[in-house]
Amino acid sequence: MRRLVAIGEVMVELCGGQENVWRSGFAGDTLNTLWYARAGLDPERDTVFYVTALGTDSMSDRILEFLATAGIETSGIRRIEGRNPGLYMIEQKAGDRAFLYWRGQSAARCLADDEHSLRDALRGADMIYLSGITLAILPPAARERLLTVLQEARANGATLAFDPNIRPALWEDAETMRDVLSRMAGASQIVLPSFDDEARTFGDVDPAATIARYLSAGAQEVAVKDGGRPVKLSDGASIEVAAVAEVVDATAAGDSFNGAYLAARLAGHTPSESARVGISTAQQVVAAPGACINLKSLAAWRQR
Ligand code: ADP
Repeated sequence: MRRLVAIGEVMVELCGGQENVWRSGFAGDTLNTLWYARAGLDPERDTVFYVTALGTDSMSDRILEFLATAGIETSGIRRIEGRNPGLYMIEQKAGDRAFLYWRGQSAARCLADDEHSLRDALRGADMIYLSGITLAILPPAARERLLTVLQEARANGATLAFDPNIRPALWEDAETMRDVLSRMAGASQIVLPSFDDEARTFGDVDPAATIARYLSAGAQEVAVKDGGRPVKLSDGASIEVAAVAEVVDATAAGDSFNGAYLAARLAGHTPSESARVGISTAQQVVAAPGACINLKSLAAWRQR
């Protein structure tokens, strides 16, 4: 029995908009990652938990139903009276996509307000995953509270896994963003950055520089994603990414890599084997529309 916990925000997504008719769905980077981790793990033996905060409204009820149907445990989710889930809209603008957000008052911003329930939700976790977006949406005191509880969980045996998933617009300023991301990465054993974000934010000249920076911050294992270029690992391996005939929708490419990689690591596979599983999962995701797709082939090690 292995227990994987992801911490973050699920939002209501509105897309479509032709003749002002919008279709709603649910999305969020950590949710996407958990979706693909679930696909890679053994439903008989492993459990995946999502930790967030939702409101007491009907949309929050639907999010809980969605998670339960996806095989994701929801007992660590707090309900907060007077708050609602965040919302975003994808508008088609001259062939391009534009995103509009309403998340300033979202319930998820309260996910680390209560230290005791946070500690309870993380108890017994073998692996805990979060992203820079999880940290960005929190008020500063809640970020520090979360970091403290995560460090306790690590001391109790959990592996901490982190994707900096850098979104400058969500942070109050660039200096705080770099400081918090570096501290969280340093507190984590596994760091899964994307090179273009890291180059832009930290000035890394190549993936090797990203790896060196996170190792010196305190991380033990780093896998750097770089679009169609090879995934670089901190043990020196470089794993080729097979070309995709057509990239239909790159949404959740990095998240799906992370989910498959972490499921494989949790099941005891090496970083190189896990990166191969991550790449083959991401390959299916970029070739299909949408963030959470049903995979055609599960990880090879699940089929054995
Ligand atoms: P992010 O979504 O975080 O920006 P990347 O763009 O680096 O992450 O992509 C994550 C993974 O998705 C890559 O490591 C690769 O496996 C796959 N991927 C992304 N873009 C392509 C592409 N053009 N061709 C093939 N695979 C891709």
